[in-house]
Amino acid sequence: KVVTGKILWRRSLQLRDQQQAWQESCEGREMLEFRRSLPAYKEKDAVLAAISQNQVVIISGETGCGKTTQIPQFILESEVESVRGGACSIICTQPRRISAMSVSERVASERGETLGESVGYKVRLEGVKGRDTHLLFCTTGILLRRLLVDRNLKGVTHVIVDEIHERGMNEDFLLIVLKELLPRRPELRLILMSATLDAELFASYFGKAQIIHIPGFTYPVRTHFLEDILEMSGYMLTPYNQIDDYGQEKMWKMSKQAPRKRKSQIASVVEDALKAADLKDYSHQTQESLSYWNPDCIGFNFIEYILYNICEKERPGAILVFMTGWDDISSLKDKLQAHPILGDPSRVLLLACHGSMASSEQRLIFDQPEDGVRKIVLATNIAETSITINDVVFVLDCGKAKETSYDALNNTPCLLPSWISKVSAQQRRGRAGRVQPGECYHLYPRCVHDAFAEYQLPEILRTPLQSLCLQIKSLKLGSISEFLSKALQSPELLAVQNAIEYLKIIGALDENEMLTVLGRHLTMLPVEPKLGKMLLLGAILNCLDPILTVVSGLSVRDPFLTPFDKKDLAEAAKSQFSRDYSDHLALVRAFERWKVAEKVYAGYDYCWKNFLSVQSMKAIDSLRKEFFSLLKDAGLVDANTIDHNIWSYDEHLIRAVICYGLYPGISSIVHNEKSFSLKTMEDGQVLLYSNSVNAREAKIPFPWLVFNEKIKVNSVFLRDSTAVSDSVLLLFGGSLSRGDTDGHLKMLGGYLEFFMKPAVADMYECLRSELDDLIQS
Ligand code: ADP
Ligand code: MG
Repeated sequence: KVVTGKILWRRSLQLRDQQQAWQESCEGREMLEFRRSLPAYKEKDAVLAAISQNQVVIISGETGCGKTTQIPQFILESEVESVRGGACSIICTQPRRISAMSVSERVASERGETLGESVGYKVRLEGVKGRDTHLLFCTTGILLRRLLVDRNLKGVTHVIVDEIHERGMNEDFLLIVLKELLPRRPELRLILMSATLDAELFASYFGKAQIIHIPGFTYPVRTHFLEDILEMSGYMLTPYNQIDDYGQEKMWKMSKQAPRKRKSQIASVVEDALKAADLKDYSHQTQESLSYWNPDCIGFNFIEYILYNICEKERPGAILVFMTGWDDISSLKDKLQAHPILGDPSRVLLLACHGSMASSEQRLIFDQPEDGVRKIVLATNIAETSITINDVVFVLDCGKAKETSYDALNNTPCLLPSWISKVSAQQRRGRAGRVQPGECYHLYPRCVHDAFAEYQLPEILRTPLQSLCLQIKSLKLGSISEFLSKALQSPELLAVQNAIEYLKIIGALDENEMLTVLGRHLTMLPVEPKLGKMLLLGAILNCLDPILTVVSGLSVRDPFLTPFDKKDLAEAAKSQFSRDYSDHLALVRAFERWKVAEKVYAGYDYCWKNFLSVQSMKAIDSLRKEFFSLLKDAGLVDANTIDHNIWSYDEHLIRAVICYGLYPGISSIVHNEKSFSLKTMEDGQVLLYSNSVNAREAKIPFPWLVFNEKIKVNSVFLRDSTAVSDSVLLLFGGSLSRGDTDGHLKMLGGYLEFFMKPAVADMYECLRSELDDLIQS
């Protein structure tokens, strides 16, 4: 102990000297000056005092005031100075991998270090951490995973949970776990950081916590709503009747204010603006109103018009455009690139900012463009709080964000653009006033804004809870519903019941809600339960290679690209990989051919020709390796033999493994004269996504489709499906003995009668239970 203590002490002295030298250097001095200018720096002493006196401290302060980059450093610096020496271990969680990576890099550079010295990061698949790393930025998921094997977070001195105002599911879950952990680890410090003024909510959750508010400074931002923007361009938007009720349809009258303006020039723009406002969709609180959404209504012409006007007439300063989602960003980017001014790289630096962007792309966003070049960033709501772009002066806000929601009644996840909350709108506005007075253009009328909800619904209330429930069980946190009742806001009972029921159907929990052997294995794999099941069975049945590809493919962004204007070509390109009525097998084939092309340095070419994403292919490649080593560590495959692949070419078997994972995601195929339709038990008629290989088939010589995901967007759509036979479904899908006969298997109709003949049923049951035993053991 004495020796280690000495070593630590010596290292912390080195660390201190190194910092001193850096701060005396020219660059270091400049950086220190910048840090001192941040509002958070002025609260340094207050923050440190609060942390030494309280186990839980909540820090709120506007985005950009220096919470994420400074607070962890204050703690690190004060610990290095203290008697403990460098023995501290600070973990700071971020909701997204991109922020964990970019923030750690920023903090390291503020300290004049490279990553892996005192500062490191860890996200799934990637990480940099060294012997002397005391401050680790990681995703919330990584910390939860660590809690699995290290319930008391041994050795950790500080946990900082960042961006808690986002109310992500993982963060809400982590807070319950930490709340229970705190009494067991009295010396552990918990610091929560929020960009909005909801600190009281968290303080009352923890009972005793000190709140520190960092007063921010932002320049005033002039706000324009749709009617103001139209007025500026010579039009006026006036409502006929005031809205007094959510359901009421709103009538708008547009009158010309300045008849001198050339109408033809801006008529289409104004029309577009009205479409952007799409007022039918106004009452965002109800599910029905959401289904009015028409993605074409985003009003691209209008956005282009405003951007062009800013570029031509306004003072210098970057423009940040908040868009609904990735698809909108890429189509708008294509459109702007074709514009004579906005698409001219010597005048405009056009960038996109979204969650799945590569780190090299990411850095461009922070760069200052050359003089005379205007930076335009098209972003998702990721730029609202977690990423700060320094030089923004103009903000365009389309008012919507893609949000997952969960319809517990139909047990269906939905991904729909929905109106943002007032808090989000304020955040977006605030982004404009960071360096000088700014302007914000909201592309919707003021009365729509007035009807926004105050806050967004926390994720735990709007997503399926299967993985969460499994995690609760694996952390031995007792009864699922009892545990979830301790959340900041508890999910609906029905949503919890659905999740538990699902876990029972797939065999991860037994009748008494206890984790089965299968369930325990599933918690070891950082993927959704259905993908974990495929990996396990693929390993057991020795057809692992294609299954690794399927599972990796389903964990990354769809590798099959469908560009806006080349949809047909892209879908045709995908269908050449299909022979057997399966999107999953099409992916396997596409990936295998890519591997071959890659060997001769033709990987890019191959992807380009076949509308495949190079990034996704590479991500699949590395995920495959990660999943393989996970299975190896779990003792499920032996890396020294190739046994696990002897059946990899048997497509029937692969289909069966896919069915095993995806069940109960299943629809029946109803054949009619010329085509077929699909039906699921819960939704009735469903449709296929147009880029599914099965959508191009006239007939499918199988009675069932198992699917990876169904999403409600107007109708219910199935994404990624594989056709399977009756016997595969009976063996690898539902079990006759588990009472599922009332459910899916009833859909087998007359066929079921055959299977229910005692001898046949016995045979199947026998096979089935042998399979079950094999898996559960
Ligand atoms: P908060 O967490 O309170 O939103 P941050 O600590 O992330 O604020 O950022 C504080 C300031 O540091 C920002 O206002 C910005 O000026 C600067 N900053 C943060 N990240 C970077 C970066 N990657 N490059 C340059 N400046 C950055
Ligand atoms: Mg932050």
